[in-house]
Amino acid sequence: MKKEQWIIIGGGAAGLTAAIMLGRAGQKVLLLEQNSRAGKKLLATGNGRCNLSNRTITPEHFHSGDPTFVEQVLAEHSTDTIEKFFGELGLPLVEGKAGQMFPMSLQASAVVEILIHAAEHARVTILTETTVTGITHRENAFVVHAAKQSWQAEKILLTAGSPAAPQLGGSMSGLEFAQALGHTIHPYHPALVQLESDAPWLKRTAGVKIEGNARLYANGEIVDERHGDLLFTPYGISGLAILDLSRTASLALAESAWCELKLNLLPRFSKEQLTQLLLRRIDPASNKPIALWLSAILNKKLVPVLLEQVKCTAKSESELGRKHVNKFVHAIRNFTLPITDTHGFKHAEAAAGGVDVNEVDPVTMESRIMSGLYFGGEILDVVGDRGGYNLHWAWVTGLRVGNYS
Ligand SMILES: Cc1cc2nc3c(=O)[nH]c(=O)nc-3n(C[C@H](O)[C@H](O)[C@H](O)COP(=O)(O)OP(=O)(O)OC[C@H]3O[C@@H](n4cnc5c(N)ncnc54)[C@H](O)[C@@H]3O)c2cc1C
Repeated sequence: MKKEQWIIIGGGAAGLTAAIMLGRAGQKVLLLEQNSRAGKKLLATGNGRCNLSNRTITPEHFHSGDPTFVEQVLAEHSTDTIEKFFGELGLPLVEGKAGQMFPMSLQASAVVEILIHAAEHARVTILTETTVTGITHRENAFVVHAAKQSWQAEKILLTAGSPAAPQLGGSMSGLEFAQALGHTIHPYHPALVQLESDAPWLKRTAGVKIEGNARLYANGEIVDERHGDLLFTPYGISGLAILDLSRTASLALAESAWCELKLNLLPRFSKEQLTQLLLRRIDPASNKPIALWLSAILNKKLVPVLLEQVKCTAKSESELGRKHVNKFVHAIRNFTLPITDTHGFKHAEAAAGGVDVNEVDPVTMESRIMSGLYFGGEILDVVGDRGGYNLHWAWVTGLRVGNYS
């Protein structure tokens, strides 16, 4: 059996980056990818625009069992590193909203094609449609098995990602290989994902999109709060604010916590301002139905649900008084949605959990348990916030392997 210097398992963001750096350093690299092309998940990132980093890279945007590991990996690797890496590949970056960094063409396909071109230029061999089925270690060498072939390698880099988005290559296999080679695994949970609910009224509100505040409660305690888009769907709720708090929800649900969201549907008004607004709008001579009266300030699909939550018995505007207004204000600021589950790995952009980072050297990304075994990207127990942080992590860990090995 021919012996390779390096075998990289998984041709996503981290695997391609490491392959380029190792190939440039003169290492002989074989990259194995199960999909028909490398970088398939990358093509879907940022809605096809690839939000590949963020101007503000601080450890607080990353979540891991060991925050110190994240700090050590990110040290010296700000956005400048990423701009330099892609700049040298001939791909300039531009900054969008909230510090999000994109390729200037705003096309993820450009990123993927440039990475593959650079890897091939660095003499990396890329084998697609090759699913690794197992890795064994004997006599200072690794043997990598696929359905029809096996290879030997001095060093292995596991960049097989997480189970998020299986339709794009998301898989548990990298994790299973790591575990078989002696690593501790933290269970994966969907992150950056929509949330499901069993509220019976969701069919009526599907499609309503507002800007609001979402507070997540687990067992009655507030555990996360986000502001932004809220989109009601037939199965539950989506929108940027929901994606942002979904990791907390996912972890709470995994611990069997009873979860619910309380939404502030009109966050631009303080409690007092909203009370005054509603009181001013009451015309004692008007027989306007209450639902119509509320539809002037709230999306009309949400109004019947709000009235159900308030258990309102008044029928027309003329019946309203201060007590009703107080109830409406409370309900508008605490619109309640029980949460039963996340929308699952299929819809998740990332996964929390993975290989325990205490068992990995933050400088070289080499296993502390087995010499010659390396990790990069989302397979590790590190997940970033929305906004380019997960790809930043993938590039930086790929660069670390390439630079220090
Ligand atoms: C829809 C969507 C949008 C996203 N948008 C953004 C964004 O805009 N910005 C951002 O920062 N992050 C985004 N992410 C997250 C980001 O894509 C991932 O965090 C990142 O791709 C992880 O890189 P990786 O190299 O670790 O894994 P991946 O990119 O997932 O690569 C892993 C590769 O390993 C291959 N593989 C797995 N198992 C095997 C096996 N047994 N044999 C051979 N090959 C195997 C897979 O096919 C895959 O190609 C998004 C994710 C999704 C799903």
